[in-house]
Amino acid sequence: MAVRFLFKDFYFITSIMEKTSFDSMPEFSGGHVWLAGAGPGDPGLITLLCAHALQHADVVVYDALVGPAILEMAGPKAVMKYAGKRGGKPSPKQPDITLSLIEFAREGKRVLRLKGGDPFVFGRGGEEAMRLAEAGIPYRIIPGITAGVGGLAYAGIPLTHRDHNSAVTFLTGHGASGEVPENINWRAIAEGSPVIVIYMALKHLPNITEKLLSAGREGNEPVAFISRATLPKQTVLETRLSRCVDDAGATGIEPPALVVIGSVVSFREHLDWLKPHTESAL
Ligand code: SAH
Repeated sequence: MAVRFLFKDFYFITSIMEKTSFDSMPEFSGGHVWLAGAGPGDPGLITLLCAHALQHADVVVYDALVGPAILEMAGPKAVMKYAGKRGGKPSPKQPDITLSLIEFAREGKRVLRLKGGDPFVFGRGGEEAMRLAEAGIPYRIIPGITAGVGGLAYAGIPLTHRDHNSAVTFLTGHGASGEVPENINWRAIAEGSPVIVIYMALKHLPNITEKLLSAGREGNEPVAFISRATLPKQTVLETRLSRCVDDAGATGIEPPALVVIGSVVSFREHLDWLKPHTESAL
């Protein structure tokens, strides 16, 4: 199954926008910052509003999770600025990124701040929007498909299924301190959330699984690791909670990756429509 993005697809999108939605698209004015989510990876999953923003931006300030095929949709004169942060590598500081957004806007530029997934889901979009609001810069938020939704769809795992769960929890395994976030009530989540989707879970996986197991989750509960979700190299590892640390270590999960815990993982047996590189530790 190809999830590659082709130039003809790009023209398809622009022609759709010209035919139907352009009139209803908001004008991207100079001096404004648009904070947009680019979705989990597959360029076909960006919104028309995000494509519109890419075509009209003077400056695009983008994160590490935004892939080249999406950046290619920017207009030919757009200045592309990388502001990615990846664990362990030198990266621009958050205050410098927001300051550069404010400066570009004050120069009268149309500034697109482009983030992976959704900008308001574990992406510091809230912090950046707050700085813009404080500085009096006009801004717009363009939601995107978050990895914890799009990634599960591409892995054939329904986030909810009424015979299995009526609740789901999204959480991050990595707090502001670099450790597992301290303000998570693991017992409450273990007892109250049948499905748990964890972003940035790999580094502290042993700690997280230990917390869930000691709070009463079953060791044989299905777990999936979805790596590079929605991208051509998407891989999924299916395992169980008690063994997932060892299995993840033995398989070598490539970031970015999500961890999904819950019985809905077993639907993959029937719903793995993409069937790319599947690994099973079962
Ligand atoms: N704002 C983003 C999340 C940024 S935090 C969103 O809404 O999706 C970064 C984490 O998101 C990664 O560590 C990983 O857990 C998850 N992630 C983002 N893109 C992913 C992808 N294509 N595949 C798997 N996980 C992904």
